[in-house]
Amino acid sequence: MKLWLDGELRDSASARVSVFDHGLTVGDGVFETMKAVDGQAFALTRHLDRLARSARGLGLPEPDPDEVRRACRAVLDANPMPLGRLRITLTGGDSPLGSDRGEGGPTLVVAIGPVTRRADTTEVITVPWTRNERGALAGLKTTSYAENVVALARAREQGATEALFANTVGRLCEGTGSNVFVVLDGEIHTPPVASGCLAGITRALAVEWTGARETELAMDVLDRADEVFLTSTLRDVQAVRRVDGRELPTAPGPVTAKAMRIFDERAADDLDP
Ligand code: PLP
Repeated sequence: MKLWLDGELRDSASARVSVFDHGLTVGDGVFETMKAVDGQAFALTRHLDRLARSARGLGLPEPDPDEVRRACRAVLDANPMPLGRLRITLTGGDSPLGSDRGEGGPTLVVAIGPVTRRADTTEVITVPWTRNERGALAGLKTTSYAENVVALARAREQGATEALFANTVGRLCEGTGSNVFVVLDGEIHTPPVASGCLAGITRALAVEWTGARETELAMDVLDRADEVFLTSTLRDVQAVRRVDGRELPTAPGPVTAKAMRIFDERAADDLDP
């Protein structure tokens, strides 16, 4: 596998960053993951915009979008695959102990790995830990993902593939790596970004394409919903069939199935060459 590190393509087996990289030592970094279909990244421009927003939020120097685009192109060309997970990581850079962030400038890595197409339906759990909608990192896609790793491990232990968080005031927020939608009386709702969730790019497209409403939702909406679905770049729209072991009435239900169809039809337009 070839990846991009600090200005050039390198073999992933020999690519190295400093053991004092601020991304490694304190999680001071931002990232983007997007699906790549036959060498084309999905919604790359939107991902580059969000990367820049996250970098600004963390006070990291904004990456040059042309350089990141070039890096993505080089990585996609060097690693042909039908379906991939393309990841851009930008960190604070080499920061020997006792020093401040990145004396030598930030670290930029672009890498790709193969993935298989997601299943149409899945199971989720809720976890007792909260997203902090008022925290400094709310809405930023930072590399500080350890809480998500813990929650996802809990989900896997229970045979689920995703864990859903409430925020600090008990409202439904998001999953470890996905946004959540519920269908109530034929209408689609998703928590607003003010709930502390990531402004998911798939979420934004789903809102635009299905007319879903942004609504503050209590956690018990999951007990009442007719349908529940998740969105993320690798899931697209994925129906939920069980929440905390409870079967949803239908999965995919009619509204979710329609959203899946709309997504399949329209998503090809968002593949950036
Ligand atoms: N929420 C979190 C915490 C995520 O990490 C992700 C994606 O990685 C999402 C939501 C979904 O975002 P997107 O649709 O941009 O993949």
